[in-house]
Amino acid sequence: MDCIFCKIIAGEIPSYKVYEDDNVFAFLDIAPVNVGHTLVIPKKHYENMEDISEEELCNLARVVKRIGKSIKEGLGVKGYNININNKEVAGQIVPHLHFHIIPREEGDGLKLWSQGKYNEGEAEKAVNKIKI
Ligand code: 5GP
Ligand code: ZN
Repeated sequence: MDCIFCKIIAGEIPSYKVYEDDNVFAFLDIAPVNVGHTLVIPKKHYENMEDISEEELCNLARVVKRIGKSIKEGLGVKGYNININNKEVAGQIVPHLHFHIIPREEGDGLKLWSQGKYNEGEAEKAVNKIKI
């Protein structure tokens, strides 16, 4: 399969490895939002969150939690963002599921999104479509 992240796991493309176990691999993003920006991926190729099982996702999330702590303590930052882009429309460029962990510094200027407000009746309509 012609997947850049599968090639990184296989060592065919070099990376700065942060963590590895039987199922999970983590490495520095080549174009960091901030220094230490890390990507955490399952070794099995899944395109996005929809494709991975809940159990495997939980396993991945456990590692994300540990790396978040390691980033915070190791880099001495106060916090970090965790993000997954699901599908191209949401900004996913590499179609191999990955968590971004982005260390944050006060005043680093990163603005993640702008927020709006609901028109009359819009929230009720939306929640009725979404709720489980
Ligand atoms: P996406 O937009 O798909 O959520 O994020 C993909 C991320 O992968 C981007 O932040 C990009 O910088 C990173 N990336 C793309 N190609 C490579 C690569 O060859 N090596 C590394 N380390 N990161 C990559
Ligand atoms: Zn892959």
